[in-house]
Amino acid sequence: MFLRLGEVPAEGLNAELSLEPDALAAKSINADGPVKGTFRVEKTGSQVLIKGSVSGCVRLQCSRCLTSYRYKIEEKIFIELRPLLAAGEGEEMELASDDLDVEFFRGDSLDLEHFIEEQVRLALPMKPLCSKECGGLCPSCGEAIGSDACACDVESIDPRWEVLESLRDSDRDKGKN
Ligand SMILES: [Zn+2]
Ligand SMILES: [Zn+2]
Repeated sequence: MFLRLGEVPAEGLNAELSLEPDALAAKSINADGPVKGTFRVEKTGSQVLIKGSVSGCVRLQCSRCLTSYRYKIEEKIFIELRPLLAAGEGEEMELASDDLDVEFFRGDSLDLEHFIEEQVRLALPMKPLCSKECGGLCPSCGEAIGSDACACDVESIDPRWEVLESLRDSDRDKGKN
């Protein structure tokens, strides 16, 4: 959905946009249901202020046990858009406060889909975990420890020790050579 800046009235406008999983799949985002964006767009001189929120759910794969799980996204948007030209003209740039993102735009239309997509990406964890206590995969059956599929009597390895375990393993390997 494109918003023409020329059509934004002096008092600003509100816009809502919902993206279906199909549309997000095209951007390599695995959404679980529609992702909704609510926007408040205001013009201040040549700049545009966008406030709002993005909410929805995505499906992620746990980096430890590989289970697919639902991850809730609830992000606030607070972006100041500056025209690209003005920035390039050596205009003094005051530093933005921490909670304000500054971006640049070109032309006179804004793609609201882009802001939804961007906020979803920002919200994604670097290392997805189905739960903090996720025990990873069972060394015996290969299923997730604690899942119904794994009926083995294995002591779950505290994830904090995993690194030590692997170090010990590599030491052992070195000893063999
Ligand atoms: Zn997991
Ligand atoms: Zn098992």
